[in-house]
Amino acid sequence: MPSKVYFANFRETAERNMFDKIDLLLDQLPLSSAFQKGDLVAVKVHFGERGNTAFIPSYYVRRVVDKIKEFGGKPFVTDANTLYVGTRSNSVDHLETAAIHGFTRDTLGCPVLIADGLRGGSYVEVEVDGRHFKKVKLAHDLVKADSIICVTHFKGHELAGFGGSIKNLGMGGGARGGKLAMHSDVAPIIKAEKCIACGKCAANCPSDAITIDKFAAIDPKKCIGCGSCIVVCPTHACRNGWDSGAQKMQEKMVEHLAGFVKHKKDRIAYLNFIMNVSPACDCYGHADHAIVPDIGICASLDPVAIDAASNALVMAAPGHRDSELKKALEPGSDKFRDIYPGTDWNVQLDHAEKMGLGSKKYELVAI
Ligand code: SF4
Ligand code: SF4
Repeated sequence: MPSKVYFANFRETAERNMFDKIDLLLDQLPLSSAFQKGDLVAVKVHFGERGNTAFIPSYYVRRVVDKIKEFGGKPFVTDANTLYVGTRSNSVDHLETAAIHGFTRDTLGCPVLIADGLRGGSYVEVEVDGRHFKKVKLAHDLVKADSIICVTHFKGHELAGFGGSIKNLGMGGGARGGKLAMHSDVAPIIKAEKCIACGKCAANCPSDAITIDKFAAIDPKKCIGCGSCIVVCPTHACRNGWDSGAQKMQEKMVEHLAGFVKHKKDRIAYLNFIMNVSPACDCYGHADHAIVPDIGICASLDPVAIDAASNALVMAAPGHRDSELKKALEPGSDKFRDIYPGTDWNVQLDHAEKMGLGSKKYELVAI
């Protein structure tokens, strides 16, 4: 049976603005079916790397927060630290970036937490039955929350083709070690020519895997893949091997989502905001012109169906000429394959469906 995906476009009237439409979507779902009264409800967002402007505005997230409270939940807005060095790689920088981008306790009406601790070392291992993993490392507070509302900015992504709900929770909800495992099969690598032998990586390595001589060296047998050394390195000499190809990375991302789905059972709901559809991830410090006009908001209890529907809506839209799109300007053309011709976005949907996380078949219910 196809999964229901509720959809509201961005047209507004005097009687029904976008806030009313978000309320309607959440009532249709209904949002209350994803949690119980008194639950600690994690609202998983992406605050956007500093300089990026495509992320979902906090005033829309506030509406979701208010609705959770109305139904008796106790919401907090959250994301996990990044693997790469940037403005969100530890909780202090991350919360500062979130505040600059308008996500504070005052604007949201609830606490803002970083789900994997001060330096990304706080995680829970969850068992999964995947092709690549039998256990995945997930951000502690997302696992310990009673339920999750995954609020996603739908856009392009260089390794996944598009980034939707599957990526927001699967990749974004992974702890640093999980993110490293999704991107690479091996320990981080050291670029000797950039290393100044400062020793910061060794000092922050929890498993004594790094020795410093003329430059740092990592013992792969001791490395547990936590990613701490990458984040503390001042010269970017220590970096991810990025050896997982696009297909493998997508499958691994899905298997991390499976950890959440398995752990939370029916206590996750998904919203995709198909607006400011930038060609690449919100992790970059810039966004670039949207590739299609703003389309609308999808809501579903099925992460596969909502991403399949959102992608189809982007495909059906006309492409913006003054954008990263090369040829896919006509309605019906595959926008994400045009930008990333070597990346098959269908891998994530197929693998998620095979793992029983949802269905590619959906019924789009317009409100
Ligand atoms: S990834 Fe973690 S365990 Fe491995 S070398 Fe770096 S700091 Fe040490
Ligand atoms: S933190 Fe970076 S520069 Fe410092 S020793 Fe380690 S790899 Fe070299």
